[in-house]
Amino acid sequence: MKKSKKEWDRIYIKNLEVFARHGVYPEENKLGQKFLVNAVLYTHTRKAGLKDDLTKSVHYGEAAYFMDAYMKEHTFQLIETAAEQMARAVLLQFPNLEGICLEIAKPWAPVGLPLESVSVEIERSWHRAFVAVGSNLGERENHVEQAIQALDQCEDCRVEQVSNLIVTEPYGVTDQPEFLNGMIELRTLLEPEELLEQLHKIEQEAGRERLQHWGPRTLDLDIIFYDHDVIDLPRLQIPHSDMQNREFVLEPLAELAPYIRHPLFLKTAAQMLEELRSGKIS
Ligand code: AMP
Repeated sequence: MKKSKKEWDRIYIKNLEVFARHGVYPEENKLGQKFLVNAVLYTHTRKAGLKDDLTKSVHYGEAAYFMDAYMKEHTFQLIETAAEQMARAVLLQFPNLEGICLEIAKPWAPVGLPLESVSVEIERSWHRAFVAVGSNLGERENHVEQAIQALDQCEDCRVEQVSNLIVTEPYGVTDQPEFLNGMIELRTLLEPEELLEQLHKIEQEAGRERLQHWGPRTLDLDIIFYDHDVIDLPRLQIPHSDMQNREFVLEPLAELAPYIRHPLFLKTAAQMLEELRSGKIS
């Protein structure tokens, strides 16, 4: 189970010195300079600690060598980019890693003033998202299957669990074929809006046309939950704003995560499903 950041254990790599070529000025890219890398690796060390077993933790030597090589093998203009790309690469490389706080410092930054160093620090981590999938046109099962595969093949996403698929009556516009619905649990490095963009791409690849609101569709992918976040943007609301009224969302969600709690209603998926079925309004 994913714990909150507070509960993660930390492994520190301090002031790893690397000679590399990141910089906006051509001389920086040509001559190179010293960089200092500081990393906090967020993980769970409990099992490794109890069993004295390195495979249950993150090997700090391997992590340091990985970052040393990454810094040297790439040339970015910005240390922002170096930090962003390297945090992602480290998170993809080390399976026991939940998150990373990464600082890249440039003690010799060509600023022309007597400063000690400049640095960028970022924190990145895996997130847990639930994505509802539905299809009611053409080869419904194929569309759902392809969507699951496409999500799993996206480098920044890992499919963790898929619910049973259920056949449901159309919602909203009722004069259309039955739907096939399910729920996908993801681990993802994508931010919510990036995940939405990725889902739209997958929908488009499945030939989805947005002709009619709530009308028939080859593939529909909706973000139901993203960690415990509440997001209210014009083009994205999380938790999904109508999930509490949709049995075809709550049933597969309760199958995968009956105890997951809605961050605003404070009810579990199982409770919401039960209340919807018994006609009680959330
Ligand atoms: P639909 O036709 O039901 O797939 O609705 C699609 C639109 O709803 C998208 O273009 C999104 O901008 C918007 N939307 C708002 N919140 C969400 C969400 N949680 N997941 C997916 N789409 C959302």
